[in-house]
Amino acid sequence: MSETTELPDSEALQVLRRVFGYDAFRGEQADIIDTVVAGGDALVLMPTGGGKSLCYQIPSLVRSGVGVVISPLIALMQDQVDALTALGVRAGFLNSTQDFEQRREVEQAFLAGELDLLYLAPERLRVEGTVRLLDQGKIALFAIDEAHCVSQWGHDFRPDYLMLSELHERWPDVPRIALTATATEATHREIATRLKLDQAKHFVASFDRPNIQYRIVPKDNPQRQLLDLLHTEHAGDAGIVYCLSRNSVEKTAAFLTQNGIEAVPYHAGLDSRTRAQNQARFLREDGLVVVATIAFGMGIDKPDVRFVAHLDLPKSVEGYYQETGRAGRDGQPSTAWLAYGLQDVVQQRKMIDTSEGDLAHRRRLGAHLDAMLALCETVECRRSQLLAYFGQQGDACGNCDTCLTPPESWDGTIAAQKLLSTVYRLQHERGQKFGAGQLIDILLGKETDKVKQFRHDQLTVFGIGTELKDTEWRGVIRQLLASRLLAVEGDYGTLVLTEDSGEVLGRRREVMMRREPERIRSKSRSSGS
Ligand code: ADP
Ligand code: ZN
Repeated sequence: MSETTELPDSEALQVLRRVFGYDAFRGEQADIIDTVVAGGDALVLMPTGGGKSLCYQIPSLVRSGVGVVISPLIALMQDQVDALTALGVRAGFLNSTQDFEQRREVEQAFLAGELDLLYLAPERLRVEGTVRLLDQGKIALFAIDEAHCVSQWGHDFRPDYLMLSELHERWPDVPRIALTATATEATHREIATRLKLDQAKHFVASFDRPNIQYRIVPKDNPQRQLLDLLHTEHAGDAGIVYCLSRNSVEKTAAFLTQNGIEAVPYHAGLDSRTRAQNQARFLREDGLVVVATIAFGMGIDKPDVRFVAHLDLPKSVEGYYQETGRAGRDGQPSTAWLAYGLQDVVQQRKMIDTSEGDLAHRRRLGAHLDAMLALCETVECRRSQLLAYFGQQGDACGNCDTCLTPPESWDGTIAAQKLLSTVYRLQHERGQKFGAGQLIDILLGKETDKVKQFRHDQLTVFGIGTELKDTEWRGVIRQLLASRLLAVEGDYGTLVLTEDSGEVLGRRREVMMRREPERIRSKSRSSGS
């Protein structure tokens, strides 16, 4: 024991060079590895691409016994094992995709001491046989990958992760290392508590990804906007386009293909062969675009993804950070681009209202959405705001849309009052509720059939909002929704007042708004060409 603690560094470094072919450790890797090799626990927060895998792989090789890696990413286990085998590391996995014979082979190898690393899906630990198996072998360490999955407040909770606290009770002498690429301060604390990592050393790397340029634009015609981005900035580049539904994944992939961009779809509704094929093509080929639901990308290690585009609003900042984090692992300039509109807010609020689960669950989803909306509507540096969400500080970055073209903010109090009083009049004088389209038509004084049908041209608010354009009113509604001064109700996206609306109507509250940057863009376009 004292021998290994005396010179752990050099032995780990030798393994790094001999097995993995790298010259030096990055960031805190050396300290983390030292801690675990010496038998201590570690909790590691490091962004995607930071090099977390080596933090448990090397201690597994240096310590005697097998490193047991708990990971929810079953689809990737084969790839991970293949990659390690190619380096001469003896690795295997146990998960539900294997048949009895395949599992037995791995179990035999484990018992015979012929493995350096064993990947386990967390649900395997529910099987008594697995626990007995582990008891019969020698375990070098437990690595708990994607450790944020233990957090009930997080965005990716997996109930099986709660059992992992028992690892320590059953094998008190085996060091544990928990790793994640996404954790707010609250989640960070929760991981430590739930996994009973009382004695663990915490390693928190900066979450900043300076080579990623963050941009969030108002959505008008998302497919066109995307095509524009690809043509002007990312011709021939590999990238990921995220959509919320399988249907829009299919449509967007077809649209890109029709427009001469090589694109393949990826979602859980495709058969597993097509999925595997499309994923393999993305990893192997240059310049392929994958259009996907969030089912795609966990653990995908492709260094030269030049852009990640979101055509729909992610449900949480954690999700957004993780998905955009798949861009630019090689450190080269990359783009994280998101198109976001009124309809996103309406749709997601509705999804939350109708979601299963108790009130606490819906509140949690609501809080996640609010944080995401705040990031979209900020007039400050996106990166600072993103880092602040993870409890880290950063100055204005100079490499995000709000730093590069600072959005103007304007006093939207009067606009907000006009809009909210229109909602109020409809609701209280007529007992009616309408969606954004009708409200805007009323404010602009448009004599549409629907306006005439409901005699909305006789409302006192008819035509009082002609100082703003249709798109600007949409921006006003979006921002009122984002700050909960307006709410969505029912299946048709009808808009209603909230408890806080009265503060604006009663002139007790000012509302600062973000100017829709379409203007800024068209100005710079016309002056540029
Ligand atoms: P994470 O799991 O944190 O997303 P990985 O462990 O997949 O990151 O590492 C990201 C990439 O960086 C991999 O290609 C890995 O081989 C490489 N890498 C990790 N550590 C080093 C190092 N010390 N020197 C060079 N390359 C490294
Ligand atoms: Zn910035």
